[in-house]
Amino acid sequence: MLAEQRRLLCEYGHRAATTGLVVGTAGNLSVRAGDLVAVTPGGVALDRLEPEACPVVDIEGHLVEGDLRPSSETPMHLAVYTTTGAGAVVHTHSVFGTVVATTMNELPPIHYNVLLLGGTVRVAEYATYGTPELAASVRAALKDRRAALMANHGGVTIGDDLDGAFEATRLLEWLCEVYVRARSVGEPRVLTEEQLAAVVRRALDPPTFPRRED
Ligand SMILES: [Zn+2]
Repeated sequence: MLAEQRRLLCEYGHRAATTGLVVGTAGNLSVRAGDLVAVTPGGVALDRLEPEACPVVDIEGHLVEGDLRPSSETPMHLAVYTTTGAGAVVHTHSVFGTVVATTMNELPPIHYNVLLLGGTVRVAEYATYGTPELAASVRAALKDRRAALMANHGGVTIGDDLDGAFEATRLLEWLCEVYVRARSVGEPRVLTEEQLAAVVRRALDPPTFPRRED
């Protein structure tokens, strides 16, 4: 069941581990196919994950297939699926994301690439891991965004597929690292609404390069 989705969970789980986004079991991934969701199991290091180890649950949280228990953050993943059109969710305790999530109420827009995540990244209110309260606060923080930080915990991103959600996690971590490093040099300049709106206009009207007539 969901063989391709479980294979992808392993591929991106291994990538999350080898790129340092996830240390050991400190992250979880899921991918949706209709009313079913393949998710990483709890307590298994992502660099050692095998497709057969990944449980399948339905969107209401019933275990459909698998011997191992689904990740403890599965309720949060399912809550995100029920309120967004996401096809995949990635959650990690990546270092710089967690630094910002521990100290800030939002990630200020100091680089225009934050627009790829939908704009200023919100920090979801703190709640104990795996609880419905955490799922609700993450859902609220993700409104009109592809990424959110979770207070004193980590980050979560969504995408149309696992590749999109994984790239969003990489971008979120990069943005947080730039912010933290910039803060160590001085007070980072924050882009204004007008500057961000100009970026959107530019993206909609890219430069053209007419072919030279020789
Ligand atoms: Zn977590």
